[in-house]
Amino acid sequence: MTAPFTGGCRCGAVRFSFPSPPVLTRLCWCRDCQYFAAGNASVNAVFATAGATFTGQTRAFETLADSGNRLQRHFCPGCGTPLFSEAAVRPGFRVMRLGTLDEPGRLRPEMAIWTGSAPGWACHDPGLPGHPDQGPPPAPVRAPA
Ligand SMILES: [Zn+2]
Ligand SMILES: [Zn+2]
Repeated sequence: MTAPFTGGCRCGAVRFSFPSPPVLTRLCWCRDCQYFAAGNASVNAVFATAGATFTGQTRAFETLADSGNRLQRHFCPGCGTPLFSEAAVRPGFRVMRLGTLDEPGRLRPEMAIWTGSAPGWACHDPGLPGHPDQGPPPAPVRAPA
């Protein structure tokens, strides 16, 4: 039994805990993420929400993602920290921003997507699989048994 993955926003009004490791981790260079990640790629971990706890209120901004999915991008209304996104087509999962974890170094991205949208100065890890667009379907993202 691994320790839960805990985290929250910068001001502490929103807190969360996931009992199990994420099913997927990746960088996203899509144009929307560059807005919300201050210019860089967003760094994300997809967690199943089963057994997870959330406290505090978030606000959401809806976008039509480059993937074609409608995303609700949740942030803390008090401090503005981007916390997670979720898509109606993938119920039961939240795409958490890695920087909100209490131990952000505990996870590392396994791939990069939408690298074709990255600015010319972007630093790409040559050891990390990259995809110019959405890449392969997120096969690991299925409901846990
Ligand atoms: Zn906050
Ligand atoms: Zn993105």
